[in-house]
Amino acid sequence: MPTLPYAQNALAPLMSEETIAYHYGKHLQAYVDNLNRLLPGTEYERHTLEELICQSSGAIFNNAAQVWNHRFFFESLTPTPMEMCEKLKEKIIWSFGSVERMKEKLLATSATLFGSGWVWLVLNNQCKMEIISGANAANPLREGYIPLLTIDVWEHAYYIDHRNRRADYLETIWNLINWHRVWQRYENTHCNIYI
Ligand code: MN
Repeated sequence: MPTLPYAQNALAPLMSEETIAYHYGKHLQAYVDNLNRLLPGTEYERHTLEELICQSSGAIFNNAAQVWNHRFFFESLTPTPMEMCEKLKEKIIWSFGSVERMKEKLLATSATLFGSGWVWLVLNNQCKMEIISGANAANPLREGYIPLLTIDVWEHAYYIDHRNRRADYLETIWNLINWHRVWQRYENTHCNIYI
């Protein structure tokens, strides 16, 4: 079970303790438990999560990707509001024209994704940022993208706090993003030669 990098009540009131208790404590725990139940005796027993995401399919893929995606999601949030550093802004402006346009694209893609899934800020193979989305347990590692940030748009991510108002959740989540972490992820890629 991945460690939550803050207390369960740390994101309140923007994201309630009850949401974290269910989302982290029950949903993520269930994916971890499922995976641990599915793997023994299979060819995948000693694979890393990343290997499982790129090589497996069906229930093993779904649960492995959901574990990876949730860890990445919870690590993308912070209780301490933060600004982006100038270098990250530069990279976003290079890819999208402005920070505002990236935000619009990220939130609009999240608002319009049909059903359950994930929306990602990623680096493509030309080190340019893109916003992509995928249904259910989709993970961009499978398509060769490098993930920098993700938004969980499954209903379980927002139904306790926002009921059916996904747009309200998205505006709220924008204020919880850990931009230091996003920049750290960028710096740890091969694209850092362009910094
Ligand atoms: Mn979730």
